[in-house]
Amino acid sequence: MLEKPLSPNDQRLGAVMAALRSAGAKRVLDLGCGEGKLLRELLKEKQFNEILGMDVSVRSLEIASKRLRLDDLPSFQAERIKLIHGSLMYRDKRLAGFDAAAVVEVIEHLDPPRLSAIERVLFRHAKPQTVVLTTPNAEYNVMWETLPAGNFRHTDHRFEWTRQEFQSWATGIGGQDGYSVRFVPVGPEDDKVGSPTQMGVFTRE
Ligand code: SAH
Repeated sequence: MLEKPLSPNDQRLGAVMAALRSAGAKRVLDLGCGEGKLLRELLKEKQFNEILGMDVSVRSLEIASKRLRLDDLPSFQAERIKLIHGSLMYRDKRLAGFDAAAVVEVIEHLDPPRLSAIERVLFRHAKPQTVVLTTPNAEYNVMWETLPAGNFRHTDHRFEWTRQEFQSWATGIGGQDGYSVRFVPVGPEDDKVGSPTQMGVFTRE
């Protein structure tokens, strides 16, 4: 039987999970967790013994809670996971003391002038050992025939960055607070335009 190729979403989830796993993280934040796709994967693996999902959208948190059936989990599972309402724009004590944070397809939803808040809130105050952050690679958009030139992948994206733009932002933001960053292409890689998703893995030195 032929296996279905993984969708871009599944490839991204797989890459984020691999990065969190290999960082040896046990206590993990999912910032901008949305409807809980990553949370579900995290729950499946025992390594992750404390999982905190945060989102600014109450509606998304409700959907996540339903999809994960948080109300029906046996207590040993329910104790591992918590969902909270909050924003990456504001310093938050609840985010301190974690090994790793995932920020998956979130930054492109923020206004560029407000992006620097992430530096303060995540890298300076919450400061997990590892941050795994993904965003679309704008260069790859030419590979999708259905996407008219110059358009974003989703109408609620405020921006989409080239690899150069992402890498210079990530290196700058990490450098201010003692993080080094490596960049990992996620999904099929084209010689010219790279891969659909770009991922930065930040490590506190
Ligand atoms: N990480 C999820 C959702 C990505 S969509 C996934 O990969 O499926 C972007 C998410 O970021 C949305 O759920 C949105 O509500 C959330 N978000 C946007 N601005 C935010 C902010 N300031 N703080 C926290 N979450 C935010």
